[in-house]
Parts: sequence; C-alpha cells; structure tokens
Amino acid sequence: MRKATIDPNRQCPKCRTAEHQVNIGYNRSGTRRCQCRICGMRYTPEPKKHEYPDEIKQQALRMYRSGASGRAIGKALGMNKANVYHWLRTEKKEPVESDE
Ligand SMILES: [Zn+2]
Repeated sequence: MRKATIDPNRQCPKCRTAEHQVNIGYNRSGTRRCQCRICGMRYTPEPKKHEYPDEIKQQALRMYRSGASGRAIGKALGMNKANVYHWLRTEKKEPVESDE
C-alpha cells in the first residue's frame, strides 16, 4: 500500500485517478482548477459546497409557500434571511418580495 497522501478532492472525475493531479490555476470565480495528467481532463476539485443541506432549503421553501416571510423563515431555521431570499429567488426564478 502506498503511503502517499492523496487528497480525496483531487480525483479525476473521468478516470478516477487520484494521483498525478496537478493544479493548473484558478477560474474567474477563484475556484481552483486541476488537471489529470493521466487523461488530460480539466476539472474543479472542490465544487462549492452548499452551506445548508437540501432538506433545510426545501423546508424554507415550504414555509415560504405556507405564507411565512423570509425573515421568519430565517429566524426559524437559524440562518441569515438574505440566504432565504437567495434560495427563494433561485428556486422560484421570479422576483421575491422582500419584507424589508
Ligand atoms: Zn483522468
């Protein structure tokens, strides 16, 4: 067994090789870009993680549909209401009224 440290985030999405993955820079949003030396695949090793699990998001959306305000949802779920509005905007794909 090899003792080499292999970053689990640095695994080629195409050939699944975790070795010979090189950093080739950053894209415009500052995300690290890697390239697989085996197959040449370029990829983002650490896709942006969602800050909250999807079930929390769905819960927020359900609350919104049942008439709760973004502020109330944020308070109930313990998060910034701006985050709630962001979810509502991205899910509804239409303007969401702010309660400010
Ligand atoms: Zn590869």
